[in-house]
Amino acid sequence: MGFVCSHYFDEPCIYCCISCKSHLSRNDDLKSKSFKGKFGDAFLFDQVVNVKKAEPVLKNMITGQYLVQDITCAQCGSDVGWTYVKSLEEAEKYKEGMYILEVEKICLSKRDGFMRDSSVKESTRGVQSVWTFSRERL
Ligand SMILES: [Zn+2]
Repeated sequence: MGFVCSHYFDEPCIYCCISCKSHLSRNDDLKSKSFKGKFGDAFLFDQVVNVKKAEPVLKNMITGQYLVQDITCAQCGSDVGWTYVKSLEEAEKYKEGMYILEVEKICLSKRDGFMRDSSVKESTRGVQSVWTFSRERL
């Protein structure tokens, strides 16, 4: 918990920080594209590397209350998403330990260069989690 690892993936399809191109996650770790973040569409990942976690805060989202930690790129400090520490809703427990990356803040690294994930627009149906901007310090 809380360590910053400098991880480099050697795979054909990697999600990177859009600002500094640090590797953040892999296509293999992508669980869902139907989430909403602070800046628009967001993806749910099993595992994210090269990020720093902020203090846990309780947040109200459309599906309930969660204890989350904002995550920032360990290299450039860009706000890339958050991680679910704890869900107060029984049905949403599966999200615990998972990560949200904001589509606005990431890009796809492929063998032939960097690009935006163009599959986003078709996948915004069934949005599960909407940010309501209410923050309470624990
Ligand atoms: Zn970065």
